[in-house]
Amino acid sequence: MQYVSTRGTAPVLSFADAVLAGLATDGGLYVPQVWPSAPDTLTTDYASLAASVMAPFIGDEIDANTLQKLCSTAYSTFRDPRVTPLVPLEANHWMLELFHGPTLAFKDVALQFLGQLFDLLLEQRDEYITIVGATSGDTGSAAIDGVKNCSRVKIVILYPEGRVSDVQRRQMTTVNSPNVKTLAVNGTFDDCQDLVKAMFNNQKFREQQRLSAVNSINWARIMAQVVYYFSAAQQLASSGVSISNGVSFSVPTGNFGNVLSGWIARQMGAPIHQLIVGSNSNDILTRFFATQEMRALSVQPTLSPSMDIQVSSNFERLLFEMNNRDGARTADQLGRFRSEGAFAVSPEQYNTWLAPVFRAARCDDATTLEVIRDVFEKTGQLIDPHTAVGVFGARQHQSADIPMVTLATAHAAKFPDAVEKATGSRPSLPAHLADLFDHEEYVTTVENDLEAVQNAVARFTAGA
Ligand SMILES: *Cc1c(COP(=O)(O)O)cnc(C)c1O
Repeated sequence: MQYVSTRGTAPVLSFADAVLAGLATDGGLYVPQVWPSAPDTLTTDYASLAASVMAPFIGDEIDANTLQKLCSTAYSTFRDPRVTPLVPLEANHWMLELFHGPTLAFKDVALQFLGQLFDLLLEQRDEYITIVGATSGDTGSAAIDGVKNCSRVKIVILYPEGRVSDVQRRQMTTVNSPNVKTLAVNGTFDDCQDLVKAMFNNQKFREQQRLSAVNSINWARIMAQVVYYFSAAQQLASSGVSISNGVSFSVPTGNFGNVLSGWIARQMGAPIHQLIVGSNSNDILTRFFATQEMRALSVQPTLSPSMDIQVSSNFERLLFEMNNRDGARTADQLGRFRSEGAFAVSPEQYNTWLAPVFRAARCDDATTLEVIRDVFEKTGQLIDPHTAVGVFGARQHQSADIPMVTLATAHAAKFPDAVEKATGSRPSLPAHLADLFDHEEYVTTVENDLEAVQNAVARFTAGA
């Protein structure tokens, strides 16, 4: 399988090169040259299912046994043998729990696999990399956990000191691995992001340190998330639910990565009827589906912080399809988005690509709390604020003859304050994290200064 850039001018790459590159050299994102079909027969064991759904994207670059072993290792870290169990919520409405991985959010599904994949690809080439990233909470801990046992990957995560929750911080700082470094930056999340960008823009430093990224535009993350849409349909069918009209999924969305994976599963033949795009008050996508115009506003902090995003990077991959894979046109629209803050799609594009599949819903903080309370009162289940946005969207767009599945993207204990505020009940951490507050923390504090941060990175990669 070959990979092309959404902006049309970067070189066509193999799977391994596209994964290791992350972003294309023309600023675009890599997508496979064609959307393959899923194999006709699929197993139900999650790791085997993952290997067979991802195999067509990888081709002969990784042999079947090795891929199966990668998936088995990656998903053995999940606390539920089904990996992503489906649980009933209310009439004709289920939740697919994606939070049984080590750090309690759905990003583990992709990042546990990505760590294994990076190590394998780097071993094949006898190379080493240093992943550098900034986090406002969830991604940093999931990335650290995904690579903490890798032999060819080091990772440095920057977070804003005093601005992530205690649980989020400790999930990063208590990992005692020689290839993991956490830097507490005396600044905001935006400062951390700017520092990371500046390090990548410093060509000499970037090459010296072999910097790499694992942000949500990496193709392998999108690919790994396709699998659980197939798993959900299988779990419904095996419990006797009719999926002959398809299944709809409600997806709490930030960067459009998770819901894009659903669209890809549908392209591959998964029985998917509609995809509901759920936003909090940062509702650029909801407005886009209503007006066909993508227009950025400023970001507002909400109870679902992992969706506090105004530019949904992964939408670019769908836009490329909507432009019939015309990279120049895609680059032009995104250029306009950067310079003027907006771009539009035509009614024809909307009717062809979006109207048949996508629906959207916006759920503000007050409604999020109401949904958490309502679900708790009716079912006794505690759900997190991101999942609540999904449940709200599902209820807005449910129909009687199509089963609906909301993707539960985080464990309630990851956002205990909002959950307690809504229900009066404080969710407790699962057993494997119960002693999180007893462990020693390993963290280096640095000034919000590029040279200071680069020095800290260089000292760490040199083994000091
Ligand atoms: C990252 C994240 C999201 C948003 O996922 P995208 O792929 O960016 O749309 C939703 N919920 C939680 C808990 C997350 O961590």
